[in-house]
Amino acid sequence: MDLRKKADEIRKELVRVAVANGAGHIAPSLSSVDILTALHYRVLRRNSDPRNPERDRLLFSKGHGCYGLYAILADIGWIARADWESFYRGGPLTGCPERSAERGIEAGCGSLGHGLPMATGLAFGARLQGLGWRVYCVAGDGEMQEGAMWEALQFAVWHRLSNLTLIIDRNNLQAMDFCRNVLTLPDRPQDLRIKCEAFGAHAVQVPGHDAELLAAELERLNQLNDDKPHVLVAETIKGYGIRCMENIPRFHFRLPTTEEMARGTRYE
Ligand SMILES: [Mg+2]
Repeated sequence: MDLRKKADEIRKELVRVAVANGAGHIAPSLSSVDILTALHYRVLRRNSDPRNPERDRLLFSKGHGCYGLYAILADIGWIARADWESFYRGGPLTGCPERSAERGIEAGCGSLGHGLPMATGLAFGARLQGLGWRVYCVAGDGEMQEGAMWEALQFAVWHRLSNLTLIIDRNNLQAMDFCRNVLTLPDRPQDLRIKCEAFGAHAVQVPGHDAELLAAELERLNQLNDDKPHVLVAETIKGYGIRCMENIPRFHFRLPTTEEMARGTRYE
């Protein structure tokens, strides 16, 4: 499968449904699309059954940006087409993901700072039981200000959970402002990678809008035999793909107008 082409399809699909249905968290969803495409269409070991006990687990911790995840789960048939089309219009899918085993949604997330602790617990459980599946957690960069994320990483390092990978969607924005204006020192583009390494994880930083490159890097990390949890910091752009939205704080929840959409997209 051509992952770059698939990521563009997913972007187009999530924008189509979100704009039509008035669902606002488009920009934080767009920054994660390539990460989720790499995971779901290449890296995750899964079959057609979302409840297969041997599946790799994916926890989407930055829950508000879940539209790309929904679009992918609808594409692979784990979310019913009608449920996706009715998203935000009275259908069963919520604005932040709720745990749903039959849809392949592993955990309820959206109250930030909880996905990595849950993922760490799952990875620890797999290790204790001698099970071979891996756990992936996608978190936001603003979310890494939550203390529980660092407690979880510390625990994962101590227990040598090399079956755990944290992927940080590094879009430099959190809610309605830039991270540097909230709680991040300016001019330190590698700060999260450096902090994660200081905690003892194996951390890398790569461009975040090339699904082929992301998949290759995740698979390379999985081949390491280093007894450490892995962290991939993906350099992304909030609102990636819709030109009027990219890197603009006010578009955290705001829908684009027809005139704004006319400025074009990267995916057509
Ligand atoms: Mg962010």
